[in-house]
Amino acid sequence: AIDFKWIRDNKDVVASNIRNRNSNANLDLVLELYEKFLNLQKEVERLRAERNVVANKMKGKLEPSVRQALVEEGKSLKEGLVALEENLVQLTDQLQQEAQSIPNITHPDVPIGGEENSVIRKMVGSPKEFNFAVKDHLELGKDLDLFDFDAAAEVSGSKFYYLKNEAVLLEMGLVNWAITEVTKRGFVPLITPEIVRSTVVEKCGFQPRGSNTQVYSIEGSDQCLIGTAEIPVGGIHMDSILPESDLPLKYVAYSHCFRTEAGAAGAATRGLYRVHQFSKVEMFIFCHPEESDLYHQELIAVEEDLFSSLGFHFKTLDMATGDLGAPAYRKFDVEAWMPGLGRFGEISSASNCTDYQSRRLGIRYRPFSSDSSAPTSRKGKGANLAPTRFVHTLNATACAVPRMIVCLLENFQQEDGSVVIPEPLRPFMGGLQVISPK
Ligand code: AMP
Repeated sequence: AIDFKWIRDNKDVVASNIRNRNSNANLDLVLELYEKFLNLQKEVERLRAERNVVANKMKGKLEPSVRQALVEEGKSLKEGLVALEENLVQLTDQLQQEAQSIPNITHPDVPIGGEENSVIRKMVGSPKEFNFAVKDHLELGKDLDLFDFDAAAEVSGSKFYYLKNEAVLLEMGLVNWAITEVTKRGFVPLITPEIVRSTVVEKCGFQPRGSNTQVYSIEGSDQCLIGTAEIPVGGIHMDSILPESDLPLKYVAYSHCFRTEAGAAGAATRGLYRVHQFSKVEMFIFCHPEESDLYHQELIAVEEDLFSSLGFHFKTLDMATGDLGAPAYRKFDVEAWMPGLGRFGEISSASNCTDYQSRRLGIRYRPFSSDSSAPTSRKGKGANLAPTRFVHTLNATACAVPRMIVCLLENFQQEDGSVVIPEPLRPFMGGLQVISPK
C-alpha cells in the first residue's frame, strides 16, 4: 500500500528527497504510470457499472428480440472488461515495481550530502596505545591459527573463510552474548529462515534483481538467500493487523547473512572485513508511528551499551542522506577503532524505516477507539472500531560477528602475540581468558 496520492500531491518534496538521497528512482515515470492506472481503473469501473445496468434490464419480461440485443451487449461489455482488467493487473505490477526504488522520506535533522557529511553524535573511549608494532587481524589470525582463507577460496571462492580453534568459540560466544544481553532488555529471541521469497525482500525495500544487486537469488525459484535477518523478521507479521496492546514488538534474531558485495573493492575488503557469508544478531522493533524516533534512540543506546561493555573505542554517526538506503528515514552507524586497520570501521547500523516497510508488507494495527462514548467492548455489534494504521519498523545490529572479531583481535592483542578476551564474553566461551599462540 504505497501512498501514491501522497507522492503525487507532494511531488516537489519527493523529487528533492530523491536528489538528496542520491537515488536513481524515476519519479516522473511513477507519476505517469499512476495517472494511467487511475484512468484505467475508472474505465474498468464504468464498464462494470454498464454491465450491471444491462444485467438488471434482463431481469424483467422482455420481447425475445430485445432480450437478444441485451445478451449481445452484455457479452461485448464482458469481453471488453476482461481485456481491461488484464491491462490493469499489468499496469499495477509495473507501477509497484517502478515505485520500489522511491526512497523513504527523510528525518528533518539528517545531514544532507554524502558519507563525508555524516555528523558525529557521540565518541566513546580513546584509541588504545601500544608500545609494540600492532598486527592486523589477518596476521593475528595467521599466528594464532584462527582462520583458513586459502582452503575457503578453493572450496567456495574469494571472500569466504573457515573459522578455526578459538575463532569458533569467539563466534559462538559473541552470538550467545549478544542474544543474552538483548533478550535481557525485553526483546524476544528468534532464529529465522535464511531463504525467503523475493517478494518479501522487495517489500522490505531491497532490490533482489538487477546487475548490481547485493542479493543471491536461487536459480529456478522465486527465492533468495537473506542479506540480513531484517527481512524474515520484517516478514513475520506481514499482511496482518496487530492488536494495539502488543506494540511495541521487539525481536532479536540470529541468522547467517549472504551478500554478493557487488562493487566492493579496496583495502577495507581484506580478510574478515567484507565477506560473502557471516553471522549476525539483529534487533527489530514494530511500534506505534508516534514512537519510532524514541525506539530509534533506544536501539542506538543498546548498541552503545554493548560495545562499551567490551571496551571498544567508537563513534556514533547520524548518517547523511546519500548513505541511507531506500527504506531508512534516519540511520545511526557505529564505527569502532581498528588499530591494525589504522582507522575506524563500521560495526553496526540502526535504522528507523517508519512506515516504508510496513506499507509494503501490509503490517497494521487498529488503535483503540478514542471516542469516549464508544462501547468499551471491542467485540460484538456496535463496537466502534477505529481505522487501522501502519506500524513503524526499526532495525539495528547487535553483533555482526566478523567485524567484532576484527575489533577484538586488533584491540586486545598483546606484545607476546596473545589476545585477551573481554570479561563479558568469557562466560560465553567456557571461561577462556586469553587466546595464546599454540
Ligand atoms: P547493514 O545491514 O548493511 O547495515 O550491515 C550491518 C553490519 O553488518 C555492518 O555494520 C557490518 O558490521 C556488517 N557487515 C555488513 N556487510 C558485511 C560483509 N560483507 N562482511 C562482514 N560484515 C558485514
